[in-house]
Parts: sequence; C-alpha cells; structure tokens
Amino acid sequence: MAKTGMERLKELEKEIYKCIHCKACRFAYSGEPSREGIGEFTGKQGTILYEGMIDSCPAGIEYGWEAFWNAGKMWIARSILSGDLEFSEDVRDVILPCITCGQCSAQCENKIPTVDIIESLRAALIESGVPMIEKHELVDRLVKELNNPYGGKAEERFKWAKDAGLGKFVNNKGAKVGYYVGCTASYRQIEVAIATAKLFEKLGINFTLIEEEVCCGSPFFRIGAVETAQELMRKNLENFKDLEMVYFSCAGCYRTITIDYPKWMAEGEKLPFKTLHAFELITTLIQKEKIKFKANKELKGKVITYHDPCHTGRHFAIDMEQEMIRESKNLMFDMRKVNKMIDEWFDKPRVILKKLEEDVGLKFNEMYRIKMNSMCCGAGGGVRAGYPDFSIRTASLRCDEANAVGADFLLTECPFCWRNLDDANNLYNHGMQVKGVLQLIIEYNLLDIVEKPTEADFLG
Ligand code: SF4
Ligand code: SF4
Repeated sequence: MAKTGMERLKELEKEIYKCIHCKACRFAYSGEPSREGIGEFTGKQGTILYEGMIDSCPAGIEYGWEAFWNAGKMWIARSILSGDLEFSEDVRDVILPCITCGQCSAQCENKIPTVDIIESLRAALIESGVPMIEKHELVDRLVKELNNPYGGKAEERFKWAKDAGLGKFVNNKGAKVGYYVGCTASYRQIEVAIATAKLFEKLGINFTLIEEEVCCGSPFFRIGAVETAQELMRKNLENFKDLEMVYFSCAGCYRTITIDYPKWMAEGEKLPFKTLHAFELITTLIQKEKIKFKANKELKGKVITYHDPCHTGRHFAIDMEQEMIRESKNLMFDMRKVNKMIDEWFDKPRVILKKLEEDVGLKFNEMYRIKMNSMCCGAGGGVRAGYPDFSIRTASLRCDEANAVGADFLLTECPFCWRNLDDANNLYNHGMQVKGVLQLIIEYNLLDIVEKPTEADFLG
C-alpha cells in the first residue's frame, strides 16, 4: 500500500532538520559562474540587475515575507513534525502558493529535497481534513468526472489529431512506440501536439495515441491530492502497458510518469515501458547526423532564447543528485561525476538550439538564469489554477528576462510553460513569439532528413 503524506513527511524528518535557515535557497545566479551578467534591465515588472546572486524563489518574490520563502516552509514542516504547529487553513494558505519549481532545492548546499518535503506536507495537510481551496476542489472534481482538469470531453481528447489528418495514429494497433500527449496539449495548446505528431510522422515513426489516455496526475501529486493522482496513475499504467517506449511533449507529464510513478508504485514494481521526451530523440538524431535543418530567410538573424521547464530541467537533475546521495549513503561522493551528468542533461535541448543557429541562421542568446538556476514560468504546483495573478506575474518576470537578451522567439519544451509564458507575453505586451522548439521546426518546415532513422533509433 502507498504511504500516506504524513508517513512520507516523517521519513523526510532528517532532511527537514538539516535546514539551518541560512536562506541561500532564495537566490539564484547565472547558472555558470564564469558567465558574465547582463547588467540592469527595466522590463514590464520593474528593474532587475542581472548580476551575481539575485532573488529567485517566485513565492518569496510575490508575497515577500518569511513563511513564503522556502526556509519558512522548512520551518513549518519542522513545527508540524514536532507538534508545535497544527494543520489549518492558515497553514494551507502559506504552503500552497509555491510553484514547487525546485529552485530552492538546487541552491541548498545541504542537498535538502525541498520539493518532496513541500509535496508531502501538502498531502499530510489534506489527510488531516483541511479542505482544498475552491479552485483546486474544482480541478479535482473535473478530473474525477472527465479524466482531465480542463473540463474537456474524454471522447474529444484526440480531436486535434483527427482534424489535422493524423487520425490513423489513434489506437494504431501493433505500434511499439506511444506518444503520451497530456491534457494541456490535447485540450489547450494543440499546436504542440500537432507539431510533435507531425514530426514523428515525418521521421517515419509508427506510433500510437492511446484513446484511453487520462491526465498523468501531475497537478494532483503537487497539490497533495495524492489519492486522485494514484487513481490516474493506475489507469495510465494499464492503458500503456503493452508499449516498449513512450514519448512525451509535456515536461510535467514526462517528469510525473518517469520520476513520480515509480515512487508511488508498489515496492518492486517497475514502469512497463521506457520513457523519453521528444526533444531527446531530436538531439540524438542530430548527434548521429541523421537529421539537420534547412536555412530559412524569414528566420535569418532572429534571436531565439530557451526557457528550461523546471520539470524537464532541474527536477531531473535534482533526482540525479538525490539518487547519488542514496547510493553513497552519506555526502562523501564525487560531485564532479554528478555535475557532469547534470551538464550533459541540460546540454540536450541546447544541441537542437545550437544546430538551429548553425543551419537556419537564427541567433541563440541565453537568458541570465538558465539550467539549474532557471527561473520558473509560474504555472506549476497548482499555482496557475489556484493563484492565477501570482502565476502570470511570475511568467512576466521570465518574459522580462527573455526581453533582456533581445529575444524574438521565447522557446520552450512544455505546453504548460508555453501557455503561461504566452499569456504573460500577451497580457504585458512583451512583444515576442512564444513557441515550442518542435513547433518552430514544423511550422517553418525546417526538418531536413539526411538518413532515414530506424526503429532502433526510436526505441532508444
Ligand atoms: S533549505 Fe538549505 S539553503 Fe534553504 S535555508 Fe535551509 S539549509 Fe539554507
Ligand atoms: S519550490 Fe520554488 S516557489 Fe516553492 S519555495 Fe522553492 S523556490 Fe520558492
């Protein structure tokens, strides 16, 4: 049987007590110590000096006082465990406006798994009987009724595929490769789903869209509604069990199924399929010199920048670090080995971006906070649904950072980041185009296949 939130919190007690309240976790820097800052920039959300360490916890920046920064939340977790504090609606209203972006975990030199602690704290809060906030109750009800939190009809999940002439891939019997689309790309950012499926088609992948696909459960793991999340997990594991490889275009779904599911599955149970994000396949095909990109006059000289989604960036990197800590049984392990793995991980999408620069004529400028130090888009952790004003202002802060490097295109690899950044881009007039990397490739017809990929390439 899966553990309760309180049992998980108790298991994390040692980690919680490692917090010395130094508050280093409120800051971030350029992600590469040798990289120069870009100086002062006045954007839509005010003036920021992009030099050295700068405030980076979105919750702390938005609400300003101690309890909302991560150090405050670690103190709340400690007080709940010691019995000095009881769960209440007041506690809920402090621990919920946090995007679970993991910026704090990345900064903490004590390697405290802050996101695991915050998520366990939220699960324990709900178990204690404190009601969810209304907006979270609504999405919880919708997903229970319709298998998605947007209120879309289950039978219309793959309407985008049928409308785009990709209907033959729905329940494509015999395919060993699946594409898990997720709710945001199925019901809202269908551009991302269409681009990913068309790219797979052009590459010659015999893939399937599973009509019984349901929400991956990510928002529900994050807000503490873990029973709902586990029900969804069980349905997806059953529906996808016959596939060898499942591809993703959503960072949140990819992280949830790859990292969260194994943690919530029964002991000894393993994921029945391999998982990869679509960008990893493109990176590999570029490295094998099987694909390249076409030059494009319209795009020549335009500036692209890249937003690392927390879920495909830092969360995977933190998981690598935590895995190494678990294996070493103490902190005396070679950080160079972990850092090398993390560097390679963050370089994967950059292989595509640099190739776009080289072949297409685009110019790739990095924002100030990137990779482990990347600033969140503001959408995750139940914040977009629960605290939309905080969410959109955070996205606008990120758009300011893209404006500071002169971006014409703000690119990312997650429809949920895409949606929040694009909403902020429009609401605050940041004047860029927000797109998925694969979407840019398909919409501008940039793909040039040098050598036809084989089934072995797709199966990883
Ligand atoms: S979580 Fe880590 S960085 Fe943050 S206050 Fe605690 S010890 Fe310091
Ligand atoms: S997870 Fe992100 S928003 Fe939450 S406390 Fe940490 S840095 Fe702040």
